[in-house]
Amino acid sequence: MDDTNAAEVASGGYERVTDYTECIEDMLENLVGNGNISSAEELDAVGFKTVLGKDLSGCVEADESVLAALDGFKEVAPAHNPAYAEGIRCFREKLPNVKRVALFETAFFQWVAPGASEYAIPKAWRELGIRRYGFHGASHKFVAERSAELLGNEVVADRARRLYVDGPVQYDGPNLRVLSCHLGGSSSVVGIHNGVAIGSSMGFSPQSGLPQNNRVGDLDSMAIPYVSKMLGLSVEDAEHQLTKESGLLGLSGISNDVRDISEKAQDGNANAKLALDVLVDSIRHWAGSFFFKMGSAEAIVFTAGIGENRTDLRAAVCAGLEDLGVKIDPSANESIVRGKEGIISTPDSRIQVLVIPANEELVIAREVYRFMQSK
Ligand code: AMP
Repeated sequence: MDDTNAAEVASGGYERVTDYTECIEDMLENLVGNGNISSAEELDAVGFKTVLGKDLSGCVEADESVLAALDGFKEVAPAHNPAYAEGIRCFREKLPNVKRVALFETAFFQWVAPGASEYAIPKAWRELGIRRYGFHGASHKFVAERSAELLGNEVVADRARRLYVDGPVQYDGPNLRVLSCHLGGSSSVVGIHNGVAIGSSMGFSPQSGLPQNNRVGDLDSMAIPYVSKMLGLSVEDAEHQLTKESGLLGLSGISNDVRDISEKAQDGNANAKLALDVLVDSIRHWAGSFFFKMGSAEAIVFTAGIGENRTDLRAAVCAGLEDLGVKIDPSANESIVRGKEGIISTPDSRIQVLVIPANEELVIAREVYRFMQSK
């Protein structure tokens, strides 16, 4: 095996988990029972898609420093950090000789310039680690690699593949500037210049940027003290409403799922239409920002549940951009859904528009392999 021809041999998942140890034991039993491995000790490594670490990022051994980094930011990513810490501890106990490797979702944004990652806040706040980090790193890195492969730039594809091992190596070839739109339950838009991210719509926490399923996305910070005074909300109340009752759910008042919202919008529901309009406007806002920062773009990529399936939203995001060189082919757009990969722009579109199905598990497997090879 090399780092590009990894193949999936088994997959599975668990929902509404209350006990991670039980799931991990069940998963290992299944792998052995199905003949994928003869014993759990045979595994070379276990990879974790850790989200946000305090003072730590990259692809690193999941040791005590990773556990401390996850703990340090557990308030900022409460749905993710404690669960990953528990998973890492469980594997350490069960399979002490199997390497554990953490790939932080922030890793892809390590090389973003300070001017694009610092907030204009007092020094004491910045010293707490409050800055723009960026998330969905595994997904956007896959887009960086795969879009370069599809567009025939093997040098940029290799630069992107080796990024966490070699850093951004010197590159003097033609520009490959990608506007990567990861649109799903949680969404972000990222500018990728020659395989390396220049910024993300997501900032300090995974609830910034675009409106998310039930999480707020970007919001003027003064709204929080104002609402707190006007409605008498505590910090905890405000946090709950911003993380559970906002986003597409809050706007539409219907659902956190674009499928339900679109159905109601088609029936003439004004709030449903508003939710979709805000989502599309926000995607265009961020894509426009990265287009300007990179000086142009060679490709726009759609990925994840909404990006791979919602042909109407893809068309809305790209509407009226003919002067920039974006022309969607309506029949190609309609035909690329449900996990298909392909080009949805016309042959004479200067900027190519691609759909690339997300595969974060494969990215983790490849990065763990590259990490192990580099040691
Ligand atoms: P993800 O987080 O990538 O799994 O994406 C989840 C979101 O994608 C859902 O909330 C839906 O709005 C949307 N989605 C997923 N599958 C489909 C589909 N087959 N057709 C339309 N929208 C979909």
